Order: sequence, then structure tokens, then C-alpha cells
Amino acid sequence: MISSVLPTYNRAPLSFVKGEGSWLTEADGRRFLDLGAGIAVNALGHAHPALVAALTAQAQALWHVSNLYRIPQQQALADALVAHTFADSVFFTNSGTESAELAIKMVRKYWHDRGEDRQTILTFEGAFHGRSTAAIAAAGSEKMTKGFGPLMPGFKLLPWGDHDALDAALDDTVAAVMIEPLQGEGGIRPLPDVCLQGLRAACDRTGALLVLDEVQCGMGRTGRLFAHEWAGIEPDIMMVAKGIGGGFPLGAVLAREHAAAPMVAGTHGSTYGGNPLACAVGMAVMEIVAEPAFLAEVGRKAGLMRQKLEGLIAAHPQTFEEVRGLGLMLGLKCRRPNLDVTAAARDAGLLVVPAADNVIRLLPALNIPDDDLAEAVTRLDRAAAALEAV
Ligand SMILES: *Cc1c(COP(=O)(O)O)cnc(C)c1O
Repeated sequence: MISSVLPTYNRAPLSFVKGEGSWLTEADGRRFLDLGAGIAVNALGHAHPALVAALTAQAQALWHVSNLYRIPQQQALADALVAHTFADSVFFTNSGTESAELAIKMVRKYWHDRGEDRQTILTFEGAFHGRSTAAIAAAGSEKMTKGFGPLMPGFKLLPWGDHDALDAALDDTVAAVMIEPLQGEGGIRPLPDVCLQGLRAACDRTGALLVLDEVQCGMGRTGRLFAHEWAGIEPDIMMVAKGIGGGFPLGAVLAREHAAAPMVAGTHGSTYGGNPLACAVGMAVMEIVAEPAFLAEVGRKAGLMRQKLEGLIAAHPQTFEEVRGLGLMLGLKCRRPNLDVTAAARDAGLLVVPAADNVIRLLPALNIPDDDLAEAVTRLDRAAAALEAV
């Protein structure tokens, strides 16, 4: 008989009852060090006092009103995002998938209003943009699309890192290029700065809009507020979610005026998007993460972690091949099945997240104490030793 929860996940046999900082407590009392952070969502760890305070204060005042009315918390968060980024305007969603949907609609409306028949959005192999019909069509992988046809048209999937294929595809009939500056689900694959710069230049040349998916790599994860800042370029449209709510469901689409302006009243909406509760928490996250000193700390912790991981790889060449990524969005490419490594880590009291390309992802809270980072590597060492002993 089918389980009462639709069985679309292979779940680990763990039920957590409490979270504090980078630690989770299982129902049986065992404590786990959390280097998954709910897949890069709990940017400030579990139960951060400022987030708990913002949530509870807002919960006592007002939860939900609808976008039929002005929402001061939404306005404040939009103002803060505009002040700290390339964007001129922001629409709030409840998830990354919803942000992808709007980004795609924005691209279509932009060209529609210009009276030009430009429909193709270029996307890249290994991408992940969510699980809606549009988002799976955009990513195009067999694993996500099989059985769900007909796929939404309008996407052209290109191989990752193939400049010739990109040059051949990106002409003045293309509507937009949509890409993650640092692939998450695809296996922590960074797009080199020069490639992002080249992509920006090619979009400028052809008029195509540049849409960045920073759902996973944004909100401080790479040590900059948004990952594209490393390359010194600006997108036209950007999708955000995950870390922006620190664990409360919240997403956003940020856009420059020319891309945002066609989205006039009535062209898009959301019942829950930008509700007072989500935006109050989002603002609390933003106030901490957007601070230059906080971002510098993410960079410092990342350097420390990377160094320790290089040592781990040197000690366990049979288990680990290389470390990759940026900031605290790190991947360890494994030499044995990443699901085995994930399970062994769990047995050692450490939570990591598998990704494609036989990688395990390390996505700690951005404010994780140095001691916890060191403990995580100790536990990875123990996990590798256990696998190598068999
Ligand atoms: C997680 C993710 C999404 C989808 O976000 P949901 O909140 O699960 O809908 C989209 N793009 C990227 C890069 C992601 O990592």
C-alpha cells in the first residue's frame, strides 16, 4: 500500500526534533552536526535568536493579508535588496521554483512587449531550476523530465563548459541565457569568472537577457552577497530563494528596470508571496548576511574549511578525489559512491548532501563556529576510515 506521504523521496531513517546552530537532535537523543543546512536554506543555522525573535514578534502582530494591500515588511525587504544589488525591482515568491517560473515569464513578456519573436532560452546540462513543468523543461535532464511530457517548449539545453556550442547557439534570436553561477545539484560546478563575463558580453552583443539562478549560491553562501559579484558583472534578472528566508519559505525575483517594467499590474501574482511573516524573517536574515564583516567571515571560514578538506583528501585518496566550490558551498568529489559516503558520514554523526557527478555537498550554516567546521572534518575522516576498513 502506498505511504500516506507521497513516496517521492528516499528518506534517511532519521527524525529530528530540535535544532540549535549547526546541530540537530534526533528523536532518540543522538546529535548530528548539520553540514546540509536543509540544502543551503538554514543560512544562519537552526533557531538563530534574531530570526526566532523576528518570526515570533511578527506572528503575534499579523501573518497574512494578501497582496491586495500594501505590506510594509515586503516593502522594507525589497528596498534592502534593491539597495544591496543590481536590481531595481523585486517580486517575492515562496520557493526557488516559483522564482524560476516568474523569471521565465519575465523573459517572455519582455520580448513580447518589444514585438520581437525571441522565444529561446539557453540553459545548461547539469542545471537545476526546480520541479515545475517549466523548470524541468529548462534543466532538461532525463531523470527529471521522463514521464512528464510534453515538455514546455522554448528551451535549448547546451553542454556545460562548451564555448563553441554556446557561440553557435547564442545569436540575436535568443531571448535569454539562464544559468547558475555555481551549480549546486549538478555537483558544485563553478562557472569561472571569465565565462560569466564572456556570457554577459555575449548577451550585451545579441540583446539576450542574462538570467542568473542564485537560489542555492546566493545570499552570502560564496562570501559575497550574490555569487555573480565575484565576476564583477550584473544580470538582468536573478532568481533567489533558499537562504533568503533562513528556513522560512521565501523566494524572490530581482530584476533591472528594463526587464521588470513589462510586468505591469495583473501580469503576475501570488497569494502568499511577500507575506508579512516571511518578509519579517527575510529582513532579519538580510540585516545579518548583507553586512560586509559577516561576508568576510564567511570567506575566512571557507578558507579554513578548504585547507582542512585538502588535508582530508590527502589522508583518504581512496575515498576522496578533489574539493571544489566557492565560499561555504563546497563539494567533495568521491572515489566511491557518494551515497555510501553520505551514509557513512551519517553513521559518524555528520549530515552532508549528495549531488550529481558523485559529489557530496558541504553547505554549512554561514555562521558555523570554527570548532564545528573542524569537528565536521574529523567526522568525515572517521567516515572515510570506516569505509576503507571494509
Ligand atoms: C533548490 C533550487 C531551486 C528550486 O528551489 P525550490 O525552493 O526547491 O523550489 C532552483 N534553483 C536552484 C539552483 C536550486 O538549488
